[in-house]
Order: sequence, then structure tokens, then C-alpha cells
Amino acid sequence: MRPPSLLRRFRLRAATAGQAGIWLLVAAITVGTLSDRPRPRQEISLGGYRVLAADFHTHSSTWSDGSLTPWGLALDARYQGLDAIAITGHRQTQDARWGRWFSERIGGPIVLIGEELPEIPQHVIAVGIHSTVDSALPVREQIAEIHRQGGVAIAAHPGEFFWKGFEPVMDQLDGTEICHPYTFEYPDVHPEIEEFARRADAAAIGSSDTHGPGRLGMCRTFVFVRDATAEGILEAIRAKRTVVYGGPAMKAYGDPELIRIAEADGRLRQMANIDYPVSVLDRLSQILGIGGFAMLVARRREFYRAK
Ligand SMILES: [Zn+2]
Ligand SMILES: [Zn+2]
Repeated sequence: MRPPSLLRRFRLRAATAGQAGIWLLVAAITVGTLSDRPRPRQEISLGGYRVLAADFHTHSSTWSDGSLTPWGLALDARYQGLDAIAITGHRQTQDARWGRWFSERIGGPIVLIGEELPEIPQHVIAVGIHSTVDSALPVREQIAEIHRQGGVAIAAHPGEFFWKGFEPVMDQLDGTEICHPYTFEYPDVHPEIEEFARRADAAAIGSSDTHGPGRLGMCRTFVFVRDATAEGILEAIRAKRTVVYGGPAMKAYGDPELIRIAEADGRLRQMANIDYPVSVLDRLSQILGIGGFAMLVARRREFYRAK
């Protein structure tokens, strides 16, 4: 028996609602992929410094609980227009090591070795360390060890719940997260992390704490560096040369003089915009996708009715 022609086979298959649904989903994915464009990456210099866009709090999938691999995070960082990230696995630095190895081979972004030390009642982010810091240590010793390794210590999402833990080390912190996705989900938390930042007097940090779902670089730190290197970034954080846009009103935080320069220029505020621009193709992809799912559901209903 001769096999039916490709066209005939296609017609036969597409004849059912189920098959049409699948084709619509394929079209949705194709259009969505075509419309997906990387965020522009700009080389910006302001006030005599090179300005790097960085996300210092990210989780990947190998030994931590994110859903992207460390190399996937490095690729996504490029895609999101970031110049640097720290990969901060919970109580481990292996993911960061793999991410850095990969990123060095594809020409960046800069990947700093990091770790999140998530204990109750404080979560400390270590950035720029070279070996895992024991999170069972008291917080003062955690931070001393981070500093001994040449890294910086950042207070993670310091809402009121975490204040008690940071109390003994307020003067030891190098940075404090002032933009974190929590503050968009729970606007009540924002005044708490603002209050904490006023008391800590550390560099303003914006971090996405991404675990895969949720966008890398959604909150980002603009770091004013002398050298566009890992060491240059750490030096700038210690000297508090950062600007962050955060909170429901996208207010500017950080070094007052650098904020003034950044605001006069306007590009950093634009880059910090947390909204995704939605194009006509994005909308088309959504409509095709919803249509495809609807047809699959309709097909299933018919199938059960016929049984
Ligand atoms: Zn945390
Ligand atoms: Zn985290």
C-alpha cells in the first residue's frame, strides 16, 4: 500500500480539533521565540566610572534549589543585559564555580563566587569568596570569614523578621538589599528594608533572588567601578559606589552624588525598569497559545463524551 502524501497526511491529522490545538501551540511557541529579544546591553560611563549592571543574589539548579543550571544563569544574565552576577547557592559554592568556568569560556558576564547563608533569624549573602563559608557559625563569625576571604557581606531581604539576626553586625555589613522582588509582591515590606538600609549605612544592593521562575536582574545594582573586573566590583561595593532603583515608586537609593549624576543622565533608570515591553508578536503568541489549549480541552471533552 502506498503511504498517503505528506499534504494528505497533514490534512487528515489537522482535521481533528486535538491536532489543530497542537499546531496552534507549535505556532505560539514559534512566534514567541521569534519575538523574544535580549535586553539591550549598553556600555555606560558616568562620573568618571564605568557603570556595570549586576545581580548579586541568584540561585541555580545543581546543588541549590533554582531551576536554571549555572551555565543557563550565565547565558540568561547576558540576555538580561547584566554585566555581572553572583551565583549564591544555599550553603554551597559549587554552582558558582561551574557558572564562572562556563562564563569565562563564552566571554562573560563576570560571575562572582557567592553563597547564601540562610539561617534563622538572618540570611547573609557572601559575594567574592573562594570557598564555602560554614553557615552554622554565629553571624559575626560568618561575616569575619567572608571578609577574610576578600568578599563582601550583604543583608538579604532584610524585612523586620530578620532584624534581630543582624543586630550584632550592623557595622560589619558591606551591603543591604533595598530592591528585592518581595517588595513588589508585598509593598508593606519596602518601608522595613528602607528603615534597615538607613541604619546599616552600607552599599545599596538590588537583587532578584531568582530561583528560575522570576526574572534574573529584575532588581539590579548599578556598580560604579574603576576596573570592570570582579575585584573592581568588590572595591566599589566596599566604597558604597552603587545606585539601585527600587520600591513601588522606583525610588533611587545609594551614593547621593552618584544618584544625582545617574538621574541627570536617565539611562540607568530606564535600564532598571522592571516591566517587560510587550510587542504585537508577544500578544499573537499568547492568543495562539490560549487558542491551542482551548482546542485541546474541547477535543478531550468530545473524546470522553464519545466513549
Ligand atoms: Zn534568603
Ligand atoms: Zn536567596
